[in-house]
Amino acid sequence: MIQIEDKRRCCGCEACRQVCPQGCIRMERDEEGFGYPVVNLDRCIECHKCERVCPFMKLDEPREPQAVYAACATDEGLREASSSGGLFTLLAEDTLRHGGVVFGARFDEEWRVCHDYTETIEGLTPFRGSKYLQSRIGDIYRQSEQFLKDERPVLFSGTPCQIKGLINYLGRGYDNLTTVDVVCHGVPSPMVWQRYLATLRAGQGEITGISFRDKSLSGWRRYDFVAQSTGGGGVRQFYGDNIYMRGFLHDLYLRPSCYACMAKGGRSQSDLTLGDYWGVERTCPDLDRALDEDKGTSVVMIHSERGQSLLEGLPCRYQETNYASAVAGNPAIEHTATEPPKRQLFFAQLDAEPLEQLIDRLTTIPLHKRLWRQLHHLAHRVKLRLRRLAQRSH
Ligand SMILES: Cc1cc2nc3c(=O)[nH]c(=O)nc-3n(C[C@H](O)[C@H](O)[C@H](O)COP(=O)(O)OP(=O)(O)OC[C@H]3O[C@@H](n4cnc5c(N)ncnc54)[C@H](O)[C@@H]3O)c2cc1C
Ligand code: SF4
Ligand code: SF4
Ligand code: SF4
Repeated sequence: MIQIEDKRRCCGCEACRQVCPQGCIRMERDEEGFGYPVVNLDRCIECHKCERVCPFMKLDEPREPQAVYAACATDEGLREASSSGGLFTLLAEDTLRHGGVVFGARFDEEWRVCHDYTETIEGLTPFRGSKYLQSRIGDIYRQSEQFLKDERPVLFSGTPCQIKGLINYLGRGYDNLTTVDVVCHGVPSPMVWQRYLATLRAGQGEITGISFRDKSLSGWRRYDFVAQSTGGGGVRQFYGDNIYMRGFLHDLYLRPSCYACMAKGGRSQSDLTLGDYWGVERTCPDLDRALDEDKGTSVVMIHSERGQSLLEGLPCRYQETNYASAVAGNPAIEHTATEPPKRQLFFAQLDAEPLEQLIDRLTTIPLHKRLWRQLHHLAHRVKLRLRRLAQRSH
């Protein structure tokens, strides 16, 4: 039966728990806030199913995509509401139009993140936009299996390890399944997120909306973290100045498996991978000039025939590029985060020091750099506003 000896070798996909015929695996959160499976030995019949579905039992080789594109939705509103170029929503709408079901990650009423499914266009809204913390999978693989057996088209989206977990859990291919993963930097601890939310609530009242990547004022490249609250004030900060995002981007509180990722770089077996096309202005200058109000362009990596034919039918603009240029702009496609030496200190001090002070101390940015960045951000915002006004008046 499954036993976690090295936490780097468990991504928390819950495939083992969902496949267990005895229902004798439960997920238990550790002191860092990440869930790991624990087996009730009294009920285990040693069938080994849990081991067979675990993504860590058989590691795949990285594989380059069949084709790579820079792409974005032609609907500018959708582009702006999405984290990158809005390709996820286009794929999802296509699935729904064919009578299908879409699986993705959304906030729950406590602003935790969990996986869920929808059968309606309106139901896609909560899935839109990246949520930078680990999403709880729950029983979602079982639910998707049921829809697949009922012969409904299913689009399943998530991190590469969640896709790998799903494919192992299903144990066989389905013609009616499309899997989409994201280029993945790693997932922060849900517990750290809850603690950060508590600091927001203390200052602002109840939270009514969160966007990790708001493009409305600062665009796609220099997006803002935004939290709305009943207090009226809320928070809007350049992502580099937001303390939670700073800790995330310094890799301070990622899941241990994210420092030894076994699923990115094409190893998840997904049909498509979506991410940000950083550097699109160099790779596709014509596309960028034609489109850009800095609303976002996706990198779309195609791994299967199904992925290719889906992309071709979508209401989007795209241009074929190549893998090397995509990776040059976005190393996270292949690169796995390195565990920073300060990570241990972070979790050791978490109960002893206010969260914001702790992250600030462990991710020090010199004052002159911070001020320079703030000035730069302000100038960027003004420039973007003027550019958008000019483009609209033409
Ligand atoms: C934790 C995380 C780390 C990422 N790191 C990078 C990176 O380093 N570089 C990069 O280029 N892109 C990264 N991305 C992907 C990027 O932010 C966009 O999500 C992606 O480009 C799709 O954007 P979109 O405009 O097509 O659609 P959007 O509507 O913005 O995408 C939403 C999609 O992301 C999924 N999703 C959202 N939050 C989660 C979550 N917590 N867990 C699982 N799935 C989730 C939804 O189910 C949906 O499929 C990351 C995404 C996540 C969730
Ligand atoms: S060996 Fe079988 S019964 Fe035991 S925990 Fe694993 S799946 Fe469950
Ligand atoms: S990686 Fe997934 S299947 Fe493997 S032990 Fe962890 S939760 Fe279970
Ligand atoms: S970095 Fe790897 S292990 Fe971590 S969430 Fe992403 S795909 Fe999973």
